[in-house]
Amino acid sequence: MISVQQALEQILSAISPLGSERVSLLAALGRVAAEDVDARRAIPPRDNSAMDGYALRWEDTLGATRESPVILEVVEDIPAGKVPEKTVVAGTAARIMTGAPIPDGADAVMKMEETEKDGSRVRIFAAASAGLDIRRAGEDVRPGERIVRKGDVLTPARIGMLASVGRAVIDVHQRPTVAVLATGNELVDVDEAFLTEGKIVSSNSYSLAAQVLDCGAVPLQIGIARDTREDLIAKFNAALRADIILSSGGVSVGDYDLVKEIMKEVGNRMQFWQVAMRPGKPLAFGTLGGVPLFGLPGNPVSSMVSFEQFVRPALLKMMGRRNLFRRIIQACLDEDVQKHAGARNFLRARVEFRDGRYHASTTGEQGSGILKSMVLANGLIVIPEAVTHARAGEEVTVQLIDGSLEGMAEPEYLKD
Ligand code: AMP
Ligand code: MG
Repeated sequence: MISVQQALEQILSAISPLGSERVSLLAALGRVAAEDVDARRAIPPRDNSAMDGYALRWEDTLGATRESPVILEVVEDIPAGKVPEKTVVAGTAARIMTGAPIPDGADAVMKMEETEKDGSRVRIFAAASAGLDIRRAGEDVRPGERIVRKGDVLTPARIGMLASVGRAVIDVHQRPTVAVLATGNELVDVDEAFLTEGKIVSSNSYSLAAQVLDCGAVPLQIGIARDTREDLIAKFNAALRADIILSSGGVSVGDYDLVKEIMKEVGNRMQFWQVAMRPGKPLAFGTLGGVPLFGLPGNPVSSMVSFEQFVRPALLKMMGRRNLFRRIIQACLDEDVQKHAGARNFLRARVEFRDGRYHASTTGEQGSGILKSMVLANGLIVIPEAVTHARAGEEVTVQLIDGSLEGMAEPEYLKD
């Protein structure tokens, strides 16, 4: 028996980040930067106006009020995008729009509402102060400042920032191609579901491939290998094109299993573990022609939970991510649960935020063949190895496993 932690450590130590590729900005969304990016220029590039109004010298406006305005000569009109040509000297101002560069000589902007145009002159109704309503060059980003670090996930904001410093492309870590192979004589593909009485559709081929996609990697469907030497060897060979291989089924203890035998034969340093966890106790790990190979359990829930615990962190590491794990929260358990000592349990759960805290309840029948328990779950309650029961009202640790595709109802406080 090996602990979840030990298995994870061994797996991650055998996995390294893939190389990089250069992609255009939008293609970088959700990818992981493989280079540091320093700004080559300031943002904003020049001092510019925060208001529509008049660029002027603040000392000219000392004592100005609505009753006794200061009158200045307007020397230029500077719409956004125009480069100022005139210098603002004593007694003058330039009409300026938000975002337009501040002309030489000016050191403040008086907003339109405090002014009144009068032919070629303007009346100023309020006193300015030094720097009023000027956005300084570099106030957002200084030249040379690091805006993206290796390992950063490229979010919409980072993509906007890269654009603003003039970067149209960025080096990101490659996405692993993940071979997904099902094994078993009882299995058929989904298109044969109604043709073959008494067979089981290989749902793992789809749930696992979808989990692969969900973490940003690229699934490669190898299909179903029959439990024969020839077919297993052929399918494992076909999987060698990938950066990582996932098979499901045929790794449990007890009965004679051809899958294990073939894995031992074609693979390197294959380990057949009994992981102290439930579901997902049997797990094989090793390499095949240098490609990491996971032998996941066949039961639909076990294969998904093992993917969550071991494969997902491995894929995120290959993609260059710094943080490899799902978000963990503490939630109030809404029912009593019992288990045997010795294994870490991952109970499929529905997590809700209610009355100022998270609540978790199981999604019903927890058998490793009950895929519905995963369908209804947005989290896994983690009950530690030594614990034998937890009571309603206790705090439990929950791994959130759903990227919240469903979002939330509009919160009350946002409604009028
Ligand atoms: P095994 O470990 O191969 O004996 O599989 C354990 C259980 O999981 C059996 O009931 C299989 O029918 C089921 N199973 C194995 N592979 C798949 C698959 N690809 N899709 C759905 N169920 C599977
Ligand atoms: Mg099988």
